[in-house]
Amino acid sequence: MSGSGYKRILLKLSGEVLMGEQAFGIDPETVARVAEEVKAAKDTGLELCLVIGGGNIFRGMAGAAKGMDRAQADYMGMLATVMNALAMQNALEQLGVPTRVQSAIQMDSVCEPVIRRRAERHLEKGRVVIFAAGVGAPYFTTDSGAALRAAEMKCDALFKGTSVDGVYDSDPKTNPEAKRFDTVSFDRVLQDNLKVMDASAVALCRDNDIPIVVFSIRERGNLAKVLAGDGVSTVVANEA
Ligand code: UDP
Repeated sequence: MSGSGYKRILLKLSGEVLMGEQAFGIDPETVARVAEEVKAAKDTGLELCLVIGGGNIFRGMAGAAKGMDRAQADYMGMLATVMNALAMQNALEQLGVPTRVQSAIQMDSVCEPVIRRRAERHLEKGRVVIFAAGVGAPYFTTDSGAALRAAEMKCDALFKGTSVDGVYDSDPKTNPEAKRFDTVSFDRVLQDNLKVMDASAVALCRDNDIPIVVFSIRERGNLAKVLAGDGVSTVVANEA
């Protein structure tokens, strides 16, 4: 068990985390660095599920804005998440971390399908399970996929690694006066439309009482620090 008291967590990373300084795609050096963060978290004794977005390659909304059929574009986005999952699997295994990818869109020669009981077994055996292709349906995002898998796998918390160190009352990139919350309720996040995850993902976590821990993945060693209870983060939870 980690210092935070969590036994099993789901880590959600946006696809952009894998592109490093590039404007697009996968930067293998950056993937390797993020994999080190994941390994450090795993080495604290946690059972770890991972969901990675696809925004560094393709987002359905962007395709739809340029005239594509939304569902078709979303399927392309889901396939992008599978590529990211495979890149992360490769990087983790190069560090000696056993990993399995389970995709919500079946691709038998590439990875396993999502099978909850099998994922459970992988976690028990100390493997990291990467869930790819979100919920497997268009009009959703990988945030919803992360919330769904966190609920299904009975994770104690959903860790959302972003480029900022928590949830602010306004955008810290444009407002220097923006204040970061240490803790904030799900209801406030939804009412004030605070930027955490999609509303559907936040609602799913609220209804299943899964706290969301928002932290910066850009800072080296931060995930393990947050897990030990001394990193900077915002915890979104139900009011006591
Ligand atoms: N997507 C989808 N259904 C899902 C998960 C993802 O249709 O359950 C598509 C959607 O087009 C989305 C893209 O995959 O834009 C990439 O995922 P996301 O935008 O969540 O990636 P992130 O922003 O986390 O990198």
